[in-house]
Amino acid sequence: MENILIAATQNKGKLKELKAITEKYGMKLVSMADAGLGDLDIEENGETFAENSYIKASTVARLTNKPCIADDSGLCVDVLGGAPGIHSARYSGVHGDDAANRARLLADLAGVPEEERAAHFTCCITLCQPDGSALVAEGHCPGRIAFEEIGEGGFGYDKIFIPEGCDTSFAALGVEVKNRIGHRARALAKLEELLENQA
Ligand code: IMP
Repeated sequence: MENILIAATQNKGKLKELKAITEKYGMKLVSMADAGLGDLDIEENGETFAENSYIKASTVARLTNKPCIADDSGLCVDVLGGAPGIHSARYSGVHGDDAANRARLLADLAGVPEEERAAHFTCCITLCQPDGSALVAEGHCPGRIAFEEIGEGGFGYDKIFIPEGCDTSFAALGVEVKNRIGHRARALAKLEELLENQA
């Protein structure tokens, strides 16, 4: 019988990244839409990235009675006490308005000098079984917030995040660099290690 794994995300980019590693372990990744849950709206009311990714993965695993994988991610700025953090997608008040979220963050940091603009992206990935047991992998990418938007492409905060050791933004660096040093790539590498240890 095929080893089915449901992805609790509507994001095509994330689906592609997840597919690449889960297929190595003989698992066929199926989207929520293909699992008949395209309209499901899960309330992410956890207080950490790990809690929110577990809420998403365990809800879908329970509903489908199949293992499920979910991720939760965001940007944490030191001088703002870790904000926007788990509220990254709705920092401006409108869920998913990337341009407004970036504008609010740049405004919050107006006048803050370069040495105080440290930040990191976090990504937490949870692979949950229908019985609620789970593998949890977290990845971080340290860097700083730029003074203005740099580059084209990317999504979310990519245009204003400069990863450590680089002199330009994630958006300008491009997807290849991001897939090498990014928080999601690092979390996926950790998940791969956990799956390796289980095999
Ligand atoms: P979610 O994990 O899809 O809920 O993403 C939360 C929010 O964090 C997104 O809407 C983006 O604003 C931000 N975010 C997460 N990962 C990235 C990234 O790789 N680049 C830029 N922004 C990101």
